[in-house]
Amino acid sequence: MTENSKTYQFQAETKPLLDLMVHSLYTNKDIFLRELISNASDALDRLRFESLTKPELLGQDDKLEIRLDADRAARTITVSDNGIGMSREEVIANIGTIAKSGTRELRAQADVGEQLSKLIGQFGVGFYSSFMVADRVVLETRRADAETAVRWESEGDDQYSLSDAEKSGRGTTITLHLKPYDPEAGIEDYTDKWVLARIVKQYSDFVSYPVVYTDRREGGEVSVEGEKGENAVIVEDKVLNTMKPLWTRPPSEVTGEEYVEFYRNMFHDPGEPLLTLHLRAEGRLEYQVLLFAPPNAPQDLYYQSTETELRLYAKGVLIMERCAELLPRYLRFVKGVVDSADLPLNISRQMLQQDRHISQMHKWITAKVVNEIVNLSANDPERYLRLWAQFGRTIKEGVMADRDNRDALVSLLLFQSSHDPEKLTTLKDYVGRMPEEQQQIFYLTGDSRGVVENSPHLEAFKQKSYEVLYLTDPVDELVVQSLPEFEGRKLKSIGKGTVELGSGEEQEQQKKELEEQQAQAAGLLELLQKRLDAHVKQVRLTNRLTTSPVCLVAANEFDDSPFVERLLQRGKGGGPKQRRVMELNPKHEIYSKMEERFRQDSGDPVLNDYADLLFGYALLAEGSEITEPVGFNRVLVSLLARAL
Ligand code: ADP
Ligand code: MG
Repeated sequence: MTENSKTYQFQAETKPLLDLMVHSLYTNKDIFLRELISNASDALDRLRFESLTKPELLGQDDKLEIRLDADRAARTITVSDNGIGMSREEVIANIGTIAKSGTRELRAQADVGEQLSKLIGQFGVGFYSSFMVADRVVLETRRADAETAVRWESEGDDQYSLSDAEKSGRGTTITLHLKPYDPEAGIEDYTDKWVLARIVKQYSDFVSYPVVYTDRREGGEVSVEGEKGENAVIVEDKVLNTMKPLWTRPPSEVTGEEYVEFYRNMFHDPGEPLLTLHLRAEGRLEYQVLLFAPPNAPQDLYYQSTETELRLYAKGVLIMERCAELLPRYLRFVKGVVDSADLPLNISRQMLQQDRHISQMHKWITAKVVNEIVNLSANDPERYLRLWAQFGRTIKEGVMADRDNRDALVSLLLFQSSHDPEKLTTLKDYVGRMPEEQQQIFYLTGDSRGVVENSPHLEAFKQKSYEVLYLTDPVDELVVQSLPEFEGRKLKSIGKGTVELGSGEEQEQQKKELEEQQAQAAGLLELLQKRLDAHVKQVRLTNRLTTSPVCLVAANEFDDSPFVERLLQRGKGGGPKQRRVMELNPKHEIYSKMEERFRQDSGDPVLNDYADLLFGYALLAEGSEITEPVGFNRVLVSLLARAL
């Protein structure tokens, strides 16, 4: 300590925070450097700002920069800037006191006993974070408009000392006397050039001032100072950050290759993004957005644990690596950067969730992303198909989850259909192909195109040449159920309820005919129903079949299809099945023969065998499993034998 040194107690509120830092178990201690560099960058910003009214603060060829210097032998590193600096009073007010709401919040939370290590990651912890890696910190600073400098020093206990200091230029120099190298405690060797370079790259790459590392090497022939000899030290400046936040440049000045290059570097993905969206929001909130849709879906896209790779920056400083608050969950595949001038470094997750600005940003960015995908689908359908193949399911989630952008998302949906085996169709194109008298959009769900295509439910639609959408993704059914109509047409499963085909007149006619037949067949239908009561709710005649004798349908629109039912059962390990409706084709030979038998002898046991067989057949035809395969086989064999 120097003679004029004076000791001060930290403000009462500060001590516990310092304690937290000193004894921190938080593993990501590297962030101390981010904090110091960001403070330096702020100080340079402030100098620039003050020099607008006091031009004398800036010299002619004043290079604004942040410097890092390491001394391996002494185990110190130094972070310095030639920014605004601090007066003695400012040092006391800024460094000896907790003024920041974020830090205070951190302390409040820590008091409540939340896990500190988690909290440090969420809150920017500012200057004090240096005590995570250093057991003594010395700060020397000279305000830009002052003649004298001041030295602040502390060991992170309950006091600090202030004294006058010699400092030639304006700005602040912070020297950390590092704790011993201890990788297990997260303390890297911060005197190592590569360690520093890595941390700067990770957190401070886009800070707009150069972060210059003073590289000293021995063994050169001529040192910078011009000394000659074997062991002359070469001192070389290395700028560690690129300072080029692509997103702050006007989009018109960035080339496609630059975007691709940036994407590859930042997200370590050799591929080329399917979508690039670069925007600047201006107005009450200013922020830049640079987003990408990656070329491939990650393995864990549908896991609960998957996290959005959206990085949140405040003026070029990374404040959150995975900011889920800026996009809805269904757009979790989008990667990129949002940089806001208005966010404090120490914003926490909790604060983000409550922040009104953030929710406005969320809304704006979401609409822009959806809109950009819609543009892609219109302007580059081939590329859109690739995006659909990777992320189509998340778009379906969006249809169900995002009311604000629902129409746009619905326009993005693609389905297989009976129209073209090679191509997917949009709902709009489907509607465009509908014959005039068709009133509904028809769909059928099933495991695969092959199964759906051969389903008996389709027969009457094929005959009428009505297009049917084939929904082969398990979530499709939920999606269409959340969508009662599209452009005024109802979406209708042809595996559920009754079907209405043709014009109103035709429908009336068919209905009447069926009712008459049904009345005549009441006895037989009742017998079959009785036999199959455990499995089916009702047995009735239908107009939906042309060549098949029988099929099963859900009793009403909101019942699950067998496809979804199977999925649900798989998930829950069985469970009661819904009883469905068995529909018989009155035009089929089997039906007429059964009816004849029934008329001759209403107690003929062969009718029960037929009931079992038809039920089993209907299950197989739609791709379901037979409920009682052994019984089914026995009946089948005995009927085959008799038929010979
Ligand atoms: P924050 O940056 O969020 O305000 P910090 O704990 O990082 O919190 O810093 C506290 C204050 O100390 C800053 O607001 C600033 O006034 C002052 N300060 C810290 N580092 C510097 C610096 N390099 N130059 C000038 N002032 C600084
Ligand atoms: Mg700070």
